Amino acid sequence: MKNISIIGATGSIGTQTLEVMKSDKDNYKLIAATANKNFNKMIEIIKEFSPKLVVMTEKYAYDKVYEYCRNTDTIVKFGFDALSEAASMQEVDIVVTSIVGMIGLVPTLTAIKAGKDIALANKETLVVGGEIVNKEAEKYGVKILPVDSEHGAIFQCLQGNKNSEVSRLLLTASGGPFRGKKIDELKNVTLKEALNHPNWSMGKKITIDSATLMNKGLEVIEAHWLFHADFDNIKVVVHPQSIIHSMVEYKDGSVIAQMASPDMKLPIQYALNYPKRCESVIKPLDFYSMHNLEFEKPDMDTFKCLKYAYEAGKAGGIMPTILNSANEYAVDLFLNNKIKFNQISEIIYDSLNKFENTQIDSVETILNENKKVTEYLKGKYE
Ligand code: NAD
Ligand code: MG
Repeated sequence: MKNISIIGATGSIGTQTLEVMKSDKDNYKLIAATANKNFNKMIEIIKEFSPKLVVMTEKYAYDKVYEYCRNTDTIVKFGFDALSEAASMQEVDIVVTSIVGMIGLVPTLTAIKAGKDIALANKETLVVGGEIVNKEAEKYGVKILPVDSEHGAIFQCLQGNKNSEVSRLLLTASGGPFRGKKIDELKNVTLKEALNHPNWSMGKKITIDSATLMNKGLEVIEAHWLFHADFDNIKVVVHPQSIIHSMVEYKDGSVIAQMASPDMKLPIQYALNYPKRCESVIKPLDFYSMHNLEFEKPDMDTFKCLKYAYEAGKAGGIMPTILNSANEYAVDLFLNNKIKFNQISEIIYDSLNKFENTQIDSVETILNENKKVTEYLKGKYE
């Protein structure tokens, strides 16, 4: 039996985690669940899974859930600090971090310090705090198990092999809704077009990140920390069909790929049960109806976010935090129709040039830098 806490239970990954849990109810127990606004979905979760603790970070949503829970055994708490409580409860074995944005850093670190394994979907946490997360995970002997499909794939391709024999990690990318377009053609794309991802149904922020290829940039940095890989040995391969979820090339030239239907339930299930494989919760691949698997080089002159992510990752220190903070801010502006699509990468470029690089010596360094970048951008764009 796995006792699970889900930080961000009402979103795309949270919901799919609960579906995996439903497929084998004797194997999983939901201990804690958190969300910000979606009280209706949280009430559904409480009805079905009776978690011990629920946290809501928006007051109106908390009030609704609190009201519903009056006659239940579920305790309801309010506020950001309670996320860390949900991530570190005594009976929890594994914490699924499916909250969006670098706001996930503090609850993830609290979970690690409480000795909980992490099923990590929240890539922004590793982008800004990879070094600290790795250090703490080692210190407290916890596993960081990737949920992101590419990293889940690489993790599977590495099983039974030696890290020292890896030559390159090949991260696949669908290319998003604007694959093949040039930068001038993206000037006037609409929010609706950017949200229309060809292969995956996900939360809004990651869907925009997929349209700019920043998602792949964040994943390059995520792969650097998860697999201790040099940036020069992490390559992005555009693969529009999203059947190969990533590959590992070994020094003898052999390439091992992980393939499956594009469905997040598989990497979630693998992370929750590693190293065991469970009964399938996804559609099997039908090789007779699969015609072409295509591969392309990413166009970093158009999708500049990917280029900036490599640069920030290689520079190290606080630069990935600046990249991520500027991206979170810019994507939010775009989602609110306040800027054009190409301005996302311009805002990131501006921020990366505005601030000096420094070393990260604590979580506070990261949180302060985030504040600085956000205030700078607020002054400019609001
Ligand atoms: P989502 O927007 O669908 O869900 C986000 C969840 O976090 C919700 O439960 C929401 O209530 C909670 N949340 C958001 N802001 C919060 C705040 N300020 N305070 C407290 N809770 C908050 O997002 P998603 O698509 O599920 O993505 C979650 C994470 O997983 C992201 O880091 C994303 O990059 C990563 N990821 C997602 C997918 C996918 O298929 N959706 C795939 C790989 C990685
Ligand atoms: Mg991914």
